[in-house]
Amino acid sequence: MSNNVKHRTTCRLCNHSALELVVPIAATPVADAFVTREKLNEKQECYPLDMYQCLSCGHVQLLDVVSPKVLFCSNYSYFSGNSPGLVKHFQEYAEGVIRKNGLDQGRLAIDIGSNDGTFLKFFKNFGMKVLGIDPAENIARHANAAGIETLPEFLTKDLAAKICGERGGAQMVSANNVFAHTDDMAGMLESIRELLAPDGIFVFEVSYLADVMDKMLLGSIFHEHVCYHSVTPLQKFMQAHGMELIDVERVSIQGGSLICTAQKAGGKRAVSPSVGDMLSYEKQRNLCSPVTLKAFSRELESMRSEISGVLHKLHQQGKTIAGFGAARGGTLLIYHFNMGEILKFIVDDSPDKQNLYSPGYHIPVLPTKALYEQKPDYAFLLAWVHTKPIIRSNQAYLEQGGQFITCFPQVVIVNKDTTPFW
Ligand SMILES: [Zn+2]
Repeated sequence: MSNNVKHRTTCRLCNHSALELVVPIAATPVADAFVTREKLNEKQECYPLDMYQCLSCGHVQLLDVVSPKVLFCSNYSYFSGNSPGLVKHFQEYAEGVIRKNGLDQGRLAIDIGSNDGTFLKFFKNFGMKVLGIDPAENIARHANAAGIETLPEFLTKDLAAKICGERGGAQMVSANNVFAHTDDMAGMLESIRELLAPDGIFVFEVSYLADVMDKMLLGSIFHEHVCYHSVTPLQKFMQAHGMELIDVERVSIQGGSLICTAQKAGGKRAVSPSVGDMLSYEKQRNLCSPVTLKAFSRELESMRSEISGVLHKLHQQGKTIAGFGAARGGTLLIYHFNMGEILKFIVDDSPDKQNLYSPGYHIPVLPTKALYEQKPDYAFLLAWVHTKPIIRSNQAYLEQGGQFITCFPQVVIVNKDTTPFW
């Protein structure tokens, strides 16, 4: 196997070695590693993306860990503050955390993976002292310039001890969408525990396994995202590290996520009924059993064979097929549904993606007007979560005889005579 990937043999949360392959997925290159014309000669390696479940705690995870030097070589320039939907979500989330946990002005709030400081800004506005930690130097610089003090570093136990020594323990530590992205989950949780004051809370947002399955959120399956969290294994993981889960809230961001709150074991806050409710819900759904994950896998397999069948038949008939949407999630679809040799080009509304080439197969990404100029017979919606708005804004493509293919909740071919559902 390549030096760029290592296969772990124990559960990332409980360290048990009984792990079962539950959802086999085609190996893909790093999902957002779109390349420029100059790099077309460089072959991009594919890495395994299979999902495993721990038979001891039920945690679902990737075991193949791609080296950070490969994962983060793509130009990382995502700023939370540029997404109005995310800013609004962070505001409601932050205000909820302050209110529900009775946080105090003048105390310290720390965000891990703080990006441009969008989340911390709401704690600062409330009157707390804030500190961001984010290893992406360009983003940390931007945050500092905007008045959110940010250390351009990875969180380690040493760094946590240093911060605590200098500033005292934090009343709130948060980690949003990063608490599923590290291979060393135990090390991360221990560092976070180190940062907390005795009355401190740890809040984190992660995408929720049940939503990934129910809504086929294939876009959330990618190499950096090594953990697919559910409450049952998380609660045990917290307990094993001297922490206690005290609240869980389901939110709709990113197709379905959990906001979890934890404190040091025996802390002053009472455990909310939401924790027990979620544990019962997961028990009733049998979410920690391979039987459930394997049912999801069969559903995915049946979707794969249907889509692959439809596309190959059209291809053999000489029809031209384009893809719509050059997002990270498309890479899994292209590989798993075997359409790399079939898509002539991909269109995307975002100028950032245009004139690049898709990871691995190097399919050209063109502006959306290519649908009207090159007139492909079909456009497959790689960004199918946005099916309705895409069809709504491209009625003219249907009028000119083009047809959209969307794949969820079922495979549907849309032409100008289709009864509108968008
Ligand atoms: Zn486990």
